[in-house]
Amino acid sequence: MTNLLDTLRATVGPAHVLAEGDLTAWEQDWRRRARGKALAVVRPGSTAEVAAVVRACAQAGTSIVPQGGNTGLSVGSTPDASGTQVVLSLARLNAVRAIDKDNLTLTVEAGCILQNVQAAAAQAGLLFPLSLAAEGSCTIGGNLGTNAGGTQVVRYGNARELCLGLEVVTPQGEVWHGLKGLRKDNTGYDLRDLFIGSEGTLGVITAATLKLFPQPAASLTAWAAVPSMEAAVRLLGLAHQHLGAGLTGFEVMGRFALSLVAKHMPQLRVPFMEREDVPYCVLLENADSESEAHARARFEALLETAFEDGCVQDAVVAESLAQAHGLWHIRESIPLAQAEEGLNIKHDISVPISRIPAFCEYTDALLAREIPGVRLVNFGHLGDGNLHYNVQTPEGSDARAFLRDQETHVNHLVYEAVARFGGAFSAEHGVGGLKVAELEKYQPPVALGMMRAIKQALDPQGIMNPGRVLRR
Ligand code: FAD
Repeated sequence: MTNLLDTLRATVGPAHVLAEGDLTAWEQDWRRRARGKALAVVRPGSTAEVAAVVRACAQAGTSIVPQGGNTGLSVGSTPDASGTQVVLSLARLNAVRAIDKDNLTLTVEAGCILQNVQAAAAQAGLLFPLSLAAEGSCTIGGNLGTNAGGTQVVRYGNARELCLGLEVVTPQGEVWHGLKGLRKDNTGYDLRDLFIGSEGTLGVITAATLKLFPQPAASLTAWAAVPSMEAAVRLLGLAHQHLGAGLTGFEVMGRFALSLVAKHMPQLRVPFMEREDVPYCVLLENADSESEAHARARFEALLETAFEDGCVQDAVVAESLAQAHGLWHIRESIPLAQAEEGLNIKHDISVPISRIPAFCEYTDALLAREIPGVRLVNFGHLGDGNLHYNVQTPEGSDARAFLRDQETHVNHLVYEAVARFGGAFSAEHGVGGLKVAELEKYQPPVALGMMRAIKQALDPQGIMNPGRVLRR
């Protein structure tokens, strides 16, 4: 191993091979539920250096864990406990390489922080729409590695739909230059889509060419109280009809989730909390290419129809950008409020939108029956059929003991319900090291066989993020 560390030091410079001292920031996952031990954290500064690091590791038979901002929620970016893995941090590959305004593309290196990618697009008067609460620290490499979703998927799609090309270092240390930025390219198998969402198990993304969009002339946000999940789905249908491509966000939040925000962030005023008859609220965003007046008129027409339909009990439309940000801030504070409340079990699931009301009715009742006192923190991207269907430990219970005794059972109940309603046990957070058993259980054998064949073909040595997505 000394030889490998020497080679790595010679490759990237001694200052960028961290093998001693406190490596917690790289070894522990964001939720602090997994802590590993790395042989070293290596921070290359260019694609050529990434390739050289991978070649050195391949030669030594040492496995590699690619890491961006380490904000992933499926334990995919931290090393195992063996002390033998190299964490390959992309943080220093953070250049904006090119912007092509006519082609509506931006080419950035993998370690670029998402917020900086958005800013680079805005500086050119354009929009890069990927947006999520971790955008101040997650990287575009990690976003593509996990095929991240976020709050704008209903209009712009997941990270996959926003990417036109990749540059990738293969497990053999070769560089695939695939940054053409073409909107049409039917020249054989789609290698780009193979790497997106592969969670660092097939290669290291070093750069990406991303799609840009015109910035909307105006963007409006509304907050609506709805009498049921079924009504929320009806409101979504009306929003599609009235706003068309203007509908850029559609989030649902359960009353208990919002009550946690009101409890732990009392400085935030959560609309309609005083109304006991409101089980869910919805946050809608309408981006308009004409003007604010046009956006407001369309929103008003939508809400009028929704009131008549009965799927909305009450609603407010933000009067200013500050108010709109305030409403989004409430939505984005739910995970933090949940953490303040104590330990919890997270599920990131998707179900066909039409089946979400029945899924919630069935699963809410099942959990209440099987696990008395259970508290559901249900919220998420309803416009994409994606719920964060989380379980808070019963009030006053010993949370650690609850998790020890009940987590597997709770996961089993929720994932069986998801399968029953034709859904997926991971919608946007990936499989990582956390849901490998679920992948084996819920993917059909034919699909699993193809996945294993791809892994074996691209990484026969099994050095890229082993044990993540697929078992070793
Ligand atoms: P990391 O955590 O470092 O890595 C994630 C995975 O990608 C790992 O498997 C890693 O090996 C791999 N990887 C990283 N970089 C590369 C690379 N260059 N090449 C190949 N593989 C790589 N996700 C959503 O989809 N939607 C949300 O709304 C959302 N909200 C979030 C809110 C919060 C507060 C937090 C903490 C997370 C949230 N996430 C969300 C999780 C999300 O996956 C990450 O925030 C983000 O996409 C990961 O980026 P990262 O740079 O931190 O990647």
